[in-house]
Amino acid sequence: MKGAGDNTTRPVVLADVQIKRVRTASPVVGHIVSNELCLYGKSASFVKHTVIDVSGTPLAGAFRAGQSFGVIPPGVDEHGKPHKVRLYSLACPSWGEDGKGNVISTTTKRLIDEFIPQTVNERSRAHHLFLGVCSNYMCDLLPGDEIRLCGPVGSRFQLPVDPSVHDYLFLATGTGIAPFRGMLTELLCGKAGAVPSQIHLVMGAAYTTDLLYHDLFQKLTAVHPNFNYHTAISREPRPQGQEGDEGETRHTGRRGLYVHQLVEQRLDEFSALIASPRTLIYVCGLAGMQWDVFRMLARHGLSQDYFIRTGALEKLAPEDWTDADIRRGARPTDRCLVEVY
Ligand code: NAP
Repeated sequence: MKGAGDNTTRPVVLADVQIKRVRTASPVVGHIVSNELCLYGKSASFVKHTVIDVSGTPLAGAFRAGQSFGVIPPGVDEHGKPHKVRLYSLACPSWGEDGKGNVISTTTKRLIDEFIPQTVNERSRAHHLFLGVCSNYMCDLLPGDEIRLCGPVGSRFQLPVDPSVHDYLFLATGTGIAPFRGMLTELLCGKAGAVPSQIHLVMGAAYTTDLLYHDLFQKLTAVHPNFNYHTAISREPRPQGQEGDEGETRHTGRRGLYVHQLVEQRLDEFSALIASPRTLIYVCGLAGMQWDVFRMLARHGLSQDYFIRTGALEKLAPEDWTDADIRRGARPTDRCLVEVY
């Protein structure tokens, strides 16, 4: 596994993007084009590829892959106030789903959970069914339905202006795959043809059936030898020969793999890519993945090009870093682009 071209470090040049073209206070109306499940198999989750026509609004053609947009759900909250805006990552390339920037998309997961009290007054509702307001509103939408939108937002989580001078390691968990669907389409399916860069996507999901856009990524791997798709499944036994030891399984309660574990297990393949000055690492999804990836890179002496250590991180060994230490003390460099929650 190595870089596509020479090994010279190139500055990471990002485009100037428009943000907040449409303000939350005066949203525009888009129309649902389609809203179909994008899971690989029959899953306990509901995740949809939501496609929205924004033609005729200031959002049309005014976004870049990796940015997010706002959705304002109808109705009021428990205090009688209008619902606040929720942000969703674009899942389409910068030219949209239609090639003209008139149709955008995102990846929407129904939040179905149990209520966790945040205050003493809320204790009586503990363990009651909790339904995410906007995610369920979005997943219910049908073709032709209206949706109130604003944005775009985000200026850093994007591809470089000249993508061919870099190689890429994309790390995703769950719906954090959304921006990578857009970026990969842009890198591999543009009018000018595919970039020659080495591209690796590691996608983390609980079960194989929870993988998102799996068919698309498999097709892209089959057609583009420079694109490599890896899946880290956390709740299924690891493939034979890659099992963790009993202690690890007992400690984590998991038989499967997290994203950072897959990379670590195959470091003989990944280390050349990570050490190459051409490589950019993008992380999108759960914040826990970022902390684990940062610890793993530091353990193997591969972190210095991706984040600067300050505070406790300078003094302690990576295995002793707490999540809070990393949140406070790790400053991602230009070569590490992070969008986690
Ligand atoms: P999910 O289904 O809860 O989790 C996906 C996978 O990540 C599961 O296999 C889970 O394993 C695993 N995981 C949990 N902790 C991990 C860790 N520390 N390291 C690596 N893997 C870990 O995911 P989701 O419900 O789709 O949520 C994705 C998150 O991404 C949400 O918080 C969402 O807000 C965020 N997101 C961000 C953006 C953005 O643009 N920034 C876009 C979309 C989504 P187990 O459950 O088996 O432990």
